[in-house]
Amino acid sequence: MTILVTGGAGYVGSHTVRAMLEAGYQVVVADNLSTGFRAAVPAACRFYEGDIRDAAFLARLFEQENIDGVIHFAAFSQVGESGKLPLRYYDNNVSGTRVLLEQMTAHDVGTIVFSSSAAVYGEPEQIPIEETAALDPTNCYGETKRVMERMMCWTAAATGLRYAALRYFNACGAHPDGSLGEAHFPETHLIPLVLQVANGQRSEISVFGSDYPTPDGTCIRDYVHVCDLAQAHILALEYLLRGGESTAFNLGSGQGFSVREVIEEARRVTGHAIPAVEKARRSGDPARLVASSEKAQSTLGWRPRYSALSTILQTAWNWHRSHPMGF
Ligand code: UDP
Repeated sequence: MTILVTGGAGYVGSHTVRAMLEAGYQVVVADNLSTGFRAAVPAACRFYEGDIRDAAFLARLFEQENIDGVIHFAAFSQVGESGKLPLRYYDNNVSGTRVLLEQMTAHDVGTIVFSSSAAVYGEPEQIPIEETAALDPTNCYGETKRVMERMMCWTAAATGLRYAALRYFNACGAHPDGSLGEAHFPETHLIPLVLQVANGQRSEISVFGSDYPTPDGTCIRDYVHVCDLAQAHILALEYLLRGGESTAFNLGSGQGFSVREVIEEARRVTGHAIPAVEKARRSGDPARLVASSEKAQSTLGWRPRYSALSTILQTAWNWHRSHPMGF
């Protein structure tokens, strides 16, 4: 079974590729290396450097390889940047997905698992968030993910394509063997930034908002380990390959931790004081996002194994300590 992984050189993509090889799949990776790293792609994959917006590039790939299904990660993922450069996000995330779906249709590939995001929900009305909640994104990144989902839905109705949209909550952690992890330039995510303070690369961590309506005043998020996300992609692919119908799944640990709790756990794991400074709220940040992953657990049999906060921070710390400059 040969699976095309777009964006397989990125953070969640590279961990998924590793898990797929371990599960016995042949893996073909397509990545333009704009934010991913060649070193994150194992030698056992066939690697195509190119852009999914380039129809000729994808057509050549589909002609050369016998692709049975696609896992689609290739997209921009920075919320703040998406507000400043919305058209860049529409171009890469939405147009890129359109070209990919056209090429899949042209080459009779009818199965796709793809990265969506909890950002499709915006400010939730109920916690924990279920897949049936309203989709009302509050930032451009989340909007592009919602459009990608809708594009899949209409394409499925027209062509018989089947898809699984995986709505990640806060992806974090690193491979337990320390060889793969998170590397973004610039880094904007809480856990890597906190660990850069512990590593001596930054002097302090900013706490964005301490007046939220939460027990300690800081935002609550559902942190889910990247290796658990990787496993969910394989389970979703297998679900579709055995005839499962198109749908969306939330992927979170089901537990919420505040910014202060994350910093406190990082202090414990690293033994570093990690100075924290209270700053203004970051615009567009909901107070509390926690997933119900009941559907992924019951339909896919997904069981997160690494998503305890201590495991997340320990694996991330192993990675950041041994790879302070990323790959
Ligand atoms: N955050 C923070 N300081 C930082 C980066 C993030 O306080 O330097 C907060 C952010 O406001 C949010 C949480 O940490 O409440 C997680 O943010 P992150 O950017 O990691 O993920 P997001 O929830 O935006 O996907």
